[in-house]
Amino acid sequence: MDSSENVPIGHEVPTLGNPDLPQEGEINIADHPQSNTMTGPQNEAIESQFPNQVHAPATDISTQPFFWSSFNISPRRVQRGGWARELTKQDFHISDEIAGVNMYLEPGGIRELHWHQTAEWAVMTRGKARVTTLSRSGLPAVEDVEEGDLWFFPAGTPHSLQGLGPDGAEFVLAFDDGEQSESNTLLLTDWFAHTPPEVLAKNFGVAQEVFSDIPLHNLWIFPGDEPPALEVDQAAAGVEWGMEPVIFRLSRSKPLYENTGGSIQIADSTNYKYSSTVAAALVTVEPGSMRELHWHPNADEWQYYLRGSARMTVFNTGPHANTTDFRPGDVGVVRKNFGHYIENTGDDVLQFLEVFRTDKYEEISLANWLSHVPPQLVSAHLNIDPAVLATFPRGSQGITPLR
Ligand code: MN
Ligand code: MN
Repeated sequence: MDSSENVPIGHEVPTLGNPDLPQEGEINIADHPQSNTMTGPQNEAIESQFPNQVHAPATDISTQPFFWSSFNISPRRVQRGGWARELTKQDFHISDEIAGVNMYLEPGGIRELHWHQTAEWAVMTRGKARVTTLSRSGLPAVEDVEEGDLWFFPAGTPHSLQGLGPDGAEFVLAFDDGEQSESNTLLLTDWFAHTPPEVLAKNFGVAQEVFSDIPLHNLWIFPGDEPPALEVDQAAAGVEWGMEPVIFRLSRSKPLYENTGGSIQIADSTNYKYSSTVAAALVTVEPGSMRELHWHPNADEWQYYLRGSARMTVFNTGPHANTTDFRPGDVGVVRKNFGHYIENTGDDVLQFLEVFRTDKYEEISLANWLSHVPPQLVSAHLNIDPAVLATFPRGSQGITPLR
């Protein structure tokens, strides 16, 4: 539809981009280009990645704390068996509620038995892994996960991860506290090495000599043999029925929204009971389509970009509105209640995860709101004819398809 068709007769198409005083933005200095001089040191490689930040949309206003970061620029800790890199609040200040870790384990590679003070939610992005854990009521679980699958370990529950063949496992962890670090976990080997041997002997009912060869430094990640068939490990660990599943096949779940523009698949306590403190959405957006204008009333949104390219504008009080670009491996954070959209800016499918520190996924859609307000009231605000408002989408679409 031609956009001018929506303009009531007698109205001109408005010029957007200079709504504020004093005037701001490149659009308002087009006749005075000297004000836009940039002669200092520049990194063209970086600038080329952020077209919407370097030359912001005319509707952007003022500034706000960075809401973009990336695992691509995070240092990696590499050991035999695999590697990890992270983005905690120390690295990415706005990331209060979630700390993220990107990890790889080679086939057989083991992330050693450990636990921590926060919950651990994770999504598999490549390959296969075996996870083991013990619930707070003492029930064991051993499961295999692959691309698109999730796991969740409540705070304090012990666990291990192991890469499986042929490619090992790559995944992203989200801790439900921005301060939590992958290098700040309670490790099995550390505890053994720092407990008096006579106490270990007494605890396990064996001679002290049994512990003479334990490692004196922790292992964290180390190479191992690939484990036997899942059923063999489950039987060896004493797995029985009775425990809520610790894993969830998110990429195979029924979408909350689905149309020609894409889909949104949800994992929260309504369909994945075990995940008591983290909710997530897997969002798929076709070229030309968009995650619609919306906000989340109950938690900050932590985003991880899996594939494709996107731009997002975050609307804050003030007003503050800033736009930036996202690519695979990037991370974004949108504070609770701040308005946003995510537009597919590429020729390929865009896919990203929204992760929230809450038990239940919640959103408010702008289109859903405005289609449930008396049209005359909306018209009085926006100066749009009620007959035109009646053509707006009714209810939430999740994704707005390309028209
Ligand atoms: Mn862990
Ligand atoms: Mn969102």
